[in-house]
Amino acid sequence: MRRALVMGVTAAAAAAALTPSMAAALDAPPSLTAVSFRPIAATEPVLGSDGRIHLAYELTVINQSSLYVTIARIDAIRAGGGAGKPLESLSGKALGAMFRINAATSLGPTRLAPGGSGTIFMDATLPKGAKVPAALQHRITTVRAAKPGGPPPPGTARVARYTGVTVPVNRRPAVLVQPPLRGPRWVVANGCCDVYNAHRGATLAIDGTTYVAQRFAIDFVQLAPNYRLFNGPNVNASYAYFGDPIYAAASGRVVQARDGEPEQTPGQLPSGQTVETADGNYLVIDIGGGRYTFYAHMQPGSLRVKVGDRVTAGQVIGLLGNTGNTDGAHLHFHVMDGPSPLTSNGLPYRFTSFTGQGKVTDPVALQSGEVVPVDASVNPGPHTGQLPLEMEVVDFGG
Ligand SMILES: [Zn+2]
Repeated sequence: MRRALVMGVTAAAAAAALTPSMAAALDAPPSLTAVSFRPIAATEPVLGSDGRIHLAYELTVINQSSLYVTIARIDAIRAGGGAGKPLESLSGKALGAMFRINAATSLGPTRLAPGGSGTIFMDATLPKGAKVPAALQHRITTVRAAKPGGPPPPGTARVARYTGVTVPVNRRPAVLVQPPLRGPRWVVANGCCDVYNAHRGATLAIDGTTYVAQRFAIDFVQLAPNYRLFNGPNVNASYAYFGDPIYAAASGRVVQARDGEPEQTPGQLPSGQTVETADGNYLVIDIGGGRYTFYAHMQPGSLRVKVGDRVTAGQVIGLLGNTGNTDGAHLHFHVMDGPSPLTSNGLPYRFTSFTGQGKVTDPVALQSGEVVPVDASVNPGPHTGQLPLEMEVVDFGG
């Protein structure tokens, strides 16, 4: 037994490493590992506008040992699938960009101190039409040291490689919804899936449990014909789409509504926001099948429906605003698995149709009001039944 590891590893962790589901997939004898990985929630596939099937999920990572552990590589693979190309492979800088380590350290982007923890944000993908596995597993390589950058303790191997960490995949098709907005040049801000951003990173611990309600959320902002987000002084009225109608993406029944939150001043995040006020004025609509649509930051007094009302897809339900925890007019839209925007997990969705108009290449230009550069060659043209991805620009028609 490796002394240093045993000191830091709890009995519970050792038991978890030996559960039958994991043991069945191991091609080597089970081994005690310094680090434990656990999915926050199951994942569901969705066809992105890049023509690939995306499986977005998050792994909580805990270094249960007294060693310094670098996650050198993580491959997402089909559970029980043997060899074959990984669905995602992260290492080095690319892993660091998707690895949020809890508590500031100077240890580098992929190294955990003894007792350190973090979250890895995964985006496993498959070509369109490929068979989606019932579960994913992971091939993991870690490097262990007694001191940062130093050798491991005597008797401990420096490199540990193992296979495990099962993530269930709910293979039902992502729900098909109508776009909640009309017109051209809508930017998919804070979108899915291969970047760490405010939505993917919103793994919130609520009453002691971590939820990822915003996993597939989009902040929709619209470029003016001159490709600026706003024209003139940075006030709400300078955003041409401020006050645009918001349309129900799917039919259902209103189960949550909040109104009365004031408009914010753009260009800065407001102070004094709470979990109750952060979404501004909003609606949650139960669309059946355990799915709920969420529309946030609407104008005060603009909600056209109330709790209990039935809504029809395409019906105007309110107006786009700048309320709650926001620094500029936008519609936050997502689908989740419960009626609470806090204690639910995000579900994927696909829009019936849209036309790709490229991808924003400088997100900073968005908020400054400068002309926003767009690479028109990214996933252009008509799309049906797909989720537009991070920073893409889309025309919803109408
Ligand atoms: Zn948002």
